[in-house]
Amino acid sequence: MTMHKGSCLCGAITYELKSEPKAVTHCHCRMCQKQHGAAFATYASIPKSDLTYLSGENLLVSYNSSASIVRKFCGLCGSNIEWVGSEEYPDWVSLTLASLDSPFKPNRVKRVRVESQVCWLQQ
Ligand SMILES: [Zn+2]
Ligand SMILES: [Zn+2]
Repeated sequence: MTMHKGSCLCGAITYELKSEPKAVTHCHCRMCQKQHGAAFATYASIPKSDLTYLSGENLLVSYNSSASIVRKFCGLCGSNIEWVGSEEYPDWVSLTLASLDSPFKPNRVKRVRVESQVCWLQQ
């Protein structure tokens, strides 16, 4: 059963999720700031087996931001889609929550790596 659908900015990459995204986080680390060009990145996690690409999977470009972590983005429009390779949770993938097209209201949003939070973020 499909619970959610998502896509990149140009629409070439589309995906569906078979379960509710979990563990929603605003990550304030410097790598997320750089990659997203923003104050923080918002990710939600889902078992890899519950993520299916409907189109454009071949357009995903991978960047190893550390030894195990791979960040995947659309090679056409640059939209960030995946963060994978956690040694703690090898069977899970983190998805950019803003790429989701279906309504989703997390119960809780956790802020992580706040030690590198930018001073210009309005609270
Ligand atoms: Zn795209
Ligand atoms: Zn981060």
